[in-house]
Amino acid sequence: MTDSQHWDAIVVGSGLAGLTAAAYLTANGMRTLVLEQWEVAGGYSHVLRRRGQYESDVGIHYIGDCEPGGTTPAALMRIAAQLTRGRKTAPAPPIMR
Ligand SMILES: Cc1cc2nc3c(=O)[nH]c(=O)nc-3n(C[C@H](O)[C@H](O)[C@H](O)COP(=O)(O)OP(=O)(O)OC[C@H]3O[C@@H](n4cnc5c(N)ncnc54)[C@H](O)[C@@H]3O)c2cc1C
Repeated sequence: MTDSQHWDAIVVGSGLAGLTAAAYLTANGMRTLVLEQWEVAGGYSHVLRRRGQYESDVGIHYIGDCEPGGTTPAALMRIAAQLTRGRKTAPAPPIMR
């Protein structure tokens, strides 16, 4: 097996759960492969478009728990902190409510 074929972790499915897991694994230095059965990543977070006129949410239409200290910003901040460890970063933008 060559280096390019070696993965520390393989995530099956590229919905928000799979992409979150893959982001954490990658942020912790693991070479991670995400496998998706469909042609586009995203699972239920997709938007379907037809003839450039019609849009329909497959699933998600709102994201909850986004207030300061909520689960969503806490998870995103943890991933961002791990990805930018040791590097100077711009201050985080304010959270819109
Ligand atoms: C109608 C509806 C409305 C919703 N509205 C909201 C909302 O407004 N707000 C909210 O927060 N949540 C909402 N949810 C819930 C939210 O969509 C889901 O909880 C979340 O998107 C699930 O993410 P997931 O990664 O677990 O699964 P999924 O998004 O289902 O992703 C799974 C992925 O794995 C792939 N996969 C499966 N099996 C394999 C395989 N063997 N090999 C390769 N790939 C595979 C699939 O193709 C898919 O891309 C809604 C759900 C539905 C159904």
